[in-house]
Amino acid sequence: MGRRLARGAQLVLASHNPGKLAEIEALVRPFGIAVISAGALGLAEPDEGAPDFAGNARLKALAAAQASGLPALADDSGFCVAALDGAPGVRSARWAGPLRDFACAMARVRQEMGENPDRRAWFVSALALVWPDGHVETFIGRVDGVAIWPPRGTNGFGYDPMFQALGCARTFGEMTAEEKVPLTHRARAFAALSAACLG
Ligand code: IMP
Repeated sequence: MGRRLARGAQLVLASHNPGKLAEIEALVRPFGIAVISAGALGLAEPDEGAPDFAGNARLKALAAAQASGLPALADDSGFCVAALDGAPGVRSARWAGPLRDFACAMARVRQEMGENPDRRAWFVSALALVWPDGHVETFIGRVDGVAIWPPRGTNGFGYDPMFQALGCARTFGEMTAEEKVPLTHRARAFAALSAACLG
């Protein structure tokens, strides 16, 4: 039986990525939980040294929960390409370099895929909810689709312009936030989290 966060509770969002913060805030809002970002609390961003999404999400949430004394929620996510054996995966942010240049990261994905006819791609999100005493709940979500080239659209963030979810004619980069958020890996992980831990 998971531990729960009640309406009115405070929650630290342990992310410094503005795109992710906006999406997670939109998901948490209906549950009446007061969110505050790790950035607003002046918390440092820990190194993401774990080999998988869940490990990195736990590491980020644990650091924020211990530093703030409040429950903390972290997302670790990434873009995975079948033809690249799942890369960039946990290295998705790092492929964009220190300047976080995602045009460059997308071009690298395209270049490494070459003419491989297998265009399957997916996003994964691991959400970790951690309490200051170290109790951890972890949830995984995934959305499947294809990697397209050239990228289309300027909405969203990261690899959104080169990802078309199955059954969609537009890329995530061409959708409004209201259209994209419910379809995402994060929303799927969050649905499991909210069922187990919120309200
Ligand atoms: P991290 O979880 O902070 O290591 O960063 C994950 C990276 O994966 C982000 O910087 C994005 O590049 C990418 N990513 C995760 N979720 C999404 C998404 O919904 N759209 C586009 N890119 C994403």
